[in-house]
Amino acid sequence: MLEIEQKYACADLSAVEARLRALGAAGPDAHDEADHYFNAPDRDFARTGEAFRLRRVGPKNFFTFKGPRQKAAVKVRRELEIALPDGDHAAAEHMELLQLLGYRPVGVVRKRRRSYRLAGETVPVTVCLDEVAGLGTFAEVEAIATPEQAATVAQALTGLARELGLTRVEPRAYLTMMLEAGAGAGSGEAGPVLAGSIAELRQALAEARRKRVTIGLVPTMGALHEGHLSLIRAAQRANDFVVVTIFVNPTQFGPSEDLTRYPRPFDDDVQKCAAAGVHLIFHPSEDEMYPPGYRAFVEVKGLQDAFEGASRPGHFRGVATVVLKLFNLVRPDRAYFGQKDAQQVRIIQKMVADLNVPVEVIVCPTVREADGLALSSRNRYLDAESRGRAVALHQALSEAAELYRAGGRDAEALKQAMAARIQATLGAVLDYAAVIDAETFQPADAARPGVVLALAVKFGATRLIDNLTLGDAR
Ligand code: AMP
Repeated sequence: MLEIEQKYACADLSAVEARLRALGAAGPDAHDEADHYFNAPDRDFARTGEAFRLRRVGPKNFFTFKGPRQKAAVKVRRELEIALPDGDHAAAEHMELLQLLGYRPVGVVRKRRRSYRLAGETVPVTVCLDEVAGLGTFAEVEAIATPEQAATVAQALTGLARELGLTRVEPRAYLTMMLEAGAGAGSGEAGPVLAGSIAELRQALAEARRKRVTIGLVPTMGALHEGHLSLIRAAQRANDFVVVTIFVNPTQFGPSEDLTRYPRPFDDDVQKCAAAGVHLIFHPSEDEMYPPGYRAFVEVKGLQDAFEGASRPGHFRGVATVVLKLFNLVRPDRAYFGQKDAQQVRIIQKMVADLNVPVEVIVCPTVREADGLALSSRNRYLDAESRGRAVALHQALSEAAELYRAGGRDAEALKQAMAARIQATLGAVLDYAAVIDAETFQPADAARPGVVLALAVKFGATRLIDNLTLGDAR
């Protein structure tokens, strides 16, 4: 069967309703509808003119597929509607199924619909009066007909619309109107698009680029906390479209490090991204990022070898490589990193400058617990005792900064003060305490504004890092 319909913008639905009653229309049936639209993994419905949605009408759920429009004055297209089990659970399960199959949510159209039925000359006709959230009020005249009936029915619908006083044809689908109004793909309502493969990522980004939006990228390894969320919020403020990547990058972990036990609470991360209004989550597998035979690595010589690089050989080679890959894949306008990882920031800035990567690197301040401990995905490894003692990192940095404020300029003295504080902390094993030139990431000869105080400390198997920049220490 074919769906034949025409939509009209209509400021005064009550006038149309009065005319419908005068024509003896039955109704209205009134209900709220939420149409969750999806795009296909193998083709772009926006290009093909197809549509696929899960429609929720009260407790009732339906899949609706609409084929490409046929050339006609009114819209004529193949429509297939399949009833699904009732209820929220069934709706959620079917949406999950779609996402598992690679379908991506692109937007939700919510409307209050009052529909009237008329006998019609050839087939029954429905007139729907819609109040669409965010878009306004519209009337749709529609009928279901065989291909043979299509031309006659289309003509009859046009005549009926004229009789009802409907003149302002609206050719666009509600979803199109919503996307054009900028409330579409990945708006907080629709939830983030999940892309597990590079192909899916590219497809989702192509949609964003078509709308000429600015893109903000927040690379993470997941296990998201307020530190990550502060980057996401900064990205939201300055960009139209925010991409979060969740990838525990194996090339930045040493052989004896915590790659396999690194936390991966993926569902929780997706929830947090959804609540923060993230538009797209890229969560590739290791094979997707490093397929068999992978060979190319990025090194930022000199900056990558000291401090974190000395304690974790190869770490920054892995970081620079994955970040450049993400830059190339997402091509963001801006990318957000935390000052918490000061050496990482410096290395990424240098890589971007030296390799002419067209991205603006934005550095966000370290987010801390109330007692000063810098938030970290690794904090969850700490038992209650170590968690209490871990505040020593921030205390040591603050005390050294206090010495500096009091006039101390001797880098060695500041370093010794930090080391002494850590060594006096039960269960803490100092990896390094350092006073660092922020430009070269070599030991600074003297304390001065912009110099970085940095610490790496182990509590059992858990290694924590923190830093503070002189001059902006409070
Ligand atoms: P990770 O998931 O640990 O790779 O971190 C992802 C991004 O979040 C990096 O740019 C980190 O510097 C940043 N980040 C991690 N912890 C914090 C924090 N406590 N405050 C601000 N940014 C952070």
